[in-house]
Amino acid sequence: MFKELWTLINMLFQSNPSSILGKDLEVVVMKHFPFKGYKWLMWCGRMVCRADNEGKIQKEMLTTKFAISKNHERIHLMQALTCNDSWVRYYLSYLWEWLKCGFLAPMSANYVTSKYESEAYANEDDCTYCNDYDGSNLPKYTFKNRKKLYKQLGGTSKAWKAYVKSL
Ligand SMILES: [Zn+2]
Repeated sequence: MFKELWTLINMLFQSNPSSILGKDLEVVVMKHFPFKGYKWLMWCGRMVCRADNEGKIQKEMLTTKFAISKNHERIHLMQALTCNDSWVRYYLSYLWEWLKCGFLAPMSANYVTSKYESEAYANEDDCTYCNDYDGSNLPKYTFKNRKKLYKQLGGTSKAWKAYVKSL
């Protein structure tokens, strides 16, 4: 457990988003991460999956669903590149996006309505989106009163994802 945690922390400080650019995203198999019940932990441009889930994942890797997950993660990689090419800076900014949504229910809105997730969900189906990425579309996914808007749209992450795709 600690060894794997250490590996994850090391990735944060010892690697840069640009070092992954142009390579196929790496699938890392771990025993303890992600926590049980989660399929993927997207971390520093890697896709981490659990060893006890590996069989299922290998089947999924042949599907379009996986190609979309990978493109989603690649969009996060491009976002991190525009954060001074630093994972630490990117995750701090990501965390701030999550926090500034406030602590009123529904908490699911904190995650899905952040500009980083909104952009990734809106464009994950477009495999050319990362070509010439410069972050200039991010303001399009910056919303005032995110939680209020989320509730108005139906209050589910599914409804939110459909909304951002329509922008
Ligand atoms: Zn995401």
